[in-house]
Formats: sequence, structure tokens, C-alpha cells
Amino acid sequence: MHCLECRLARMTSTAVGVCRGCGAGVCGNHVHTATVPVRRGPVLGPPPEAVVRQVLCPACALATASGAGAAS
Ligand SMILES: [Zn+2]
Ligand SMILES: [Zn+2]
Repeated sequence: MHCLECRLARMTSTAVGVCRGCGAGVCGNHVHTATVPVRRGPVLGPPPEAVVRQVLCPACALATASGAGAAS
């Protein structure tokens, strides 16, 4: 798979991940990663420690930057 962003710029780069939002391939230069806490188990009790990593393309990272609380 190739990076969609690079493809749009008429370049070809091998994708290192797949955007969680739109499914586009993203290369190491265009990939945006964010860690998101995930709630598991009962509501009561200690706070969950589970964290998942999200891979996003630049477009989806922009779209989710406001409100999602995603950092870098
Ligand atoms: Zn790229
Ligand atoms: Zn995307």
C-alpha cells in the first residue's frame, strides 16, 4: 500500500499505517498518531488504564483535532 497524501502530491511512498478515519494509507511523514484512553469494566472503581493508539491521516487528524482531545 502507498501513502494517499504522497499520491496526491504525485509522489510514491510506502505506507506505514492505515488511517482509522478514512482507511487511507499513510507514510511515516504523514502519519498522525494519538493515544486515546479506553474505558473498560465497571463504572465504579479505579480509573481505567487502557490506552489505544490511533493512526490518522493528516486530513482526519485535522478533523478530529478539535474536541477529541488528541495530542500530537
Ligand atoms: Zn506520505
Ligand atoms: Zn483519514
